[in-house]
Amino acid sequence: MSECVIPTLTSPEVVASKSVLPAGWKADLANVKGLDITLPVMELLRRTTSRLPQDVIEAIVKGRDAEEEGSRAFNTLNDMVRNINLADGQVTPLCQDTGSIIFWVRHPFGLSQRAAKVQIRAAVVEATKRSWLRPNCVESLSGKNSGTNMDPFHDHHPAFHFEEWDKPEIEISVMQKGGGCENVGAQYRLPDAALGAGRDIKGVRKCIIDAVVKAQGQGCSPGILGVAIGGDRVTGYEKSKELILRKLGTANADPKMDAFEKDLTADLNTLGIGPMGYGGVTTALGIHVEEMYRHPASFYVSISYMCWSSRRGSITIAANGQPSFDL
Ligand code: SF4
Repeated sequence: MSECVIPTLTSPEVVASKSVLPAGWKADLANVKGLDITLPVMELLRRTTSRLPQDVIEAIVKGRDAEEEGSRAFNTLNDMVRNINLADGQVTPLCQDTGSIIFWVRHPFGLSQRAAKVQIRAAVVEATKRSWLRPNCVESLSGKNSGTNMDPFHDHHPAFHFEEWDKPEIEISVMQKGGGCENVGAQYRLPDAALGAGRDIKGVRKCIIDAVVKAQGQGCSPGILGVAIGGDRVTGYEKSKELILRKLGTANADPKMDAFEKDLTADLNTLGIGPMGYGGVTTALGIHVEEMYRHPASFYVSISYMCWSSRRGSITIAANGQPSFDL
């Protein structure tokens, strides 16, 4: 029988001791135009690729402990915890697929987005050279790998979302989105006669259940789902990905949506799909749903599926230049 593995992540002090940021590094936000974020982003990638956020670890452990000891589901989730410990301890990627790299940058007035893109790209190239990231950027038709995680022709990878805000600090979030889980994301157009799904919350529920049933274990379940109700085909998918950044266990600001998320997560966990599709009661770790406005003629439900290896992290550079990592 497999022994229950306890998650034992290295302490923040040990993580900081391995940082690529020189000790005492501080930004000068008084000169935001001259800011260079290459090193902070490299450090963010070093952490994100090898450390899972605490809320995700806790959800995996909770799932494991809900499974029958010694079952395939229990052993699979237990191996995931072992994997988490190994990756963290050795600062190696949590999964061989280090994903597509997506950034969200929120910043005060004055930051050059063009310069930030150049610096973030340089950080991604260097993280790839150091094998923190697998080269995952291939030409679509030929399959030829650029080798650097860059899209040399069209500037599509890594993906960027910039937002100027009123706060003085800069916040950079990153997600490493695996290819397997990306493949099982889905977009529905309601009404959907085949599903018997109308333009209401019951219809939305049917779409989400359908996507999870079709995914089975292929998205490396247990999954975390981001679901956008409404928007258009592009904004719905964008929002659904962003929703995966929300910490598991945090409440939806809309109490009705919060109840919907909790009920549906419990229902998905009765489907019997389980971790990696091996059966069990841990199919979904959480669902994050948000309603958007839409065109009267269109009703989309956009679903992004994130695997158990839900790598996300962020760095905040405070007004005084001090960096802090949420990971
Ligand atoms: S879906 Fe996630 S866990 Fe599965 S291979 Fe891809 S990155 Fe790894």
